[in-house]
Amino acid sequence: MYINDLTPQEIVSSIEQIGLPKYRADQVFRWIHKSLERDYSKMTNLSAKDIHYLKDSFQYDMISIYKKLESNVDDTKKYLFELGDRNIIESVFLRYDFGDSVCISSQAGCNMGCVFCASTLGGKERNLRASELLEQVYMIQKDLNTRIDSVVVMGSGEPLDNYNNLKKFISIITDENGLNISKRKITVSTCGIVDKIYTAAEDNLGFNLAISLHAATQEKRNKLIPASKKYPLKDLIEACDHYTQKSGRRVTYEYILIDGFNDTEDDVKSLKELLKNSNCHVNLIPLNPISEFEGKAPSDLQIRSFYKSLVKNKINTTIRRELGRDINAACGQLRNNYIK
Ligand code: SF4
Repeated sequence: MYINDLTPQEIVSSIEQIGLPKYRADQVFRWIHKSLERDYSKMTNLSAKDIHYLKDSFQYDMISIYKKLESNVDDTKKYLFELGDRNIIESVFLRYDFGDSVCISSQAGCNMGCVFCASTLGGKERNLRASELLEQVYMIQKDLNTRIDSVVVMGSGEPLDNYNNLKKFISIITDENGLNISKRKITVSTCGIVDKIYTAAEDNLGFNLAISLHAATQEKRNKLIPASKKYPLKDLIEACDHYTQKSGRRVTYEYILIDGFNDTEDDVKSLKELLKNSNCHVNLIPLNPISEFEGKAPSDLQIRSFYKSLVKNKINTTIRRELGRDINAACGQLRNNYIK
């Protein structure tokens, strides 16, 4: 059993099972999730006997830095982490005016098959445990000696395909005895697993929901995102509207712009029609090319013109600011280079 994979309630029952007093659970949880201490012997308010029991009973789910790339143009850093079973995942540190943020992976690889994404090329190896989601944040916070203010679950993997571990991750990282990051500062990006959007609303997970939309008609979206055939656009938008009602959070629709494919005035009309009753926001992202997909990003002029058309049609829109341009391999590309 991995001690850093346990919620506060699970630590209480596990610690009682090995005969330690219940109050130790809070202490241990704080050491691991607030002080980010991995070494039991440095947990100074525990007795030598209790440390011995803990060492004997629980493993620590370790990840380690395999490679780190640092941008020369801003503070962005890309990390490749090695997991206990030698799998490799990637995470990104981003510095904004409003604070420091990390983008983490939720699975090793991905099964969803989106055609523009390098993360899915080798399929899904496995889901990441909650402890492996947490450790990406903790390792970066410690490595950079900073305080992480927000987390985006938008790296490799489909987070809602790893729902239980995502839920556990959120409960631990928002705990007041942990990093105590507000739910408002956590964003989860999905290609649109409709039933899990309803579950997240019922479970009151309260994160910001981002949808990889990328096309405003069923026909075009099917070409980019195979999962769209199982989760039709109409059902997806209904689920997102429900999420907004339940959580009070405006949904963000991510829209990768592909030259000549989804950047025309017809696409503006389709987007307007699709989102006409939704309290939402559209985030435009110029395509980051991968060799296996032949599309390219539109020109800056075309991106600007698409943006203006959306705004003119009263759709709340932004263009994603590109950070770490010099190390900004498309999501999953860096990992792929190291697992081949
Ligand atoms: S975009 Fe996200 S859901 Fe789609 S294949 Fe890539 S990692 Fe998976």
